[in-house]
Amino acid sequence: MSVRSPAFFDADRRKPKQKCVLIVEDNHLDTALFSALIESQGHQVLKAGNAADGLALARENKPDLIIMDVRLPDISGFEATRTLKAEDATRDIPIIVTSAYGPYADKAELRECGCDAYMATPIEIAGFIDLIHSFLSRSATRKTG
Ligand code: MN
Repeated sequence: MSVRSPAFFDADRRKPKQKCVLIVEDNHLDTALFSALIESQGHQVLKAGNAADGLALARENKPDLIIMDVRLPDISGFEATRTLKAEDATRDIPIIVTSAYGPYADKAELRECGCDAYMATPIEIAGFIDLIHSFLSRSATRKTG
């Protein structure tokens, strides 16, 4: 359709914007679960299986949210988070750090890496969706879009 009618234009304005979430995770089961849940909320997913690919995808695509595993095959998710939070182009992207070592997570390292939230795995599904939504609705109100 080459010309948008006012009715279509109004419908587009009311529709919540689809967001983009980058998952940096080497555990395929976690990636599959996170993806399914995020896509079920109408959002788009990018996937990286290591930190290097994650950094490249973050810089290239400027996702609305990043889910970052701590234990990755190359550098740690803490280090990848520090890197992204140190760069002007990516520092405003919220990052949720995830780890299976929840009870043993290094609280100082979590604070120091600059992540915006921490989530233990295995996740609790309703809590995961609420957390994702809280960040994506926050970015929906940003004036930069
Ligand atoms: Mn891992």
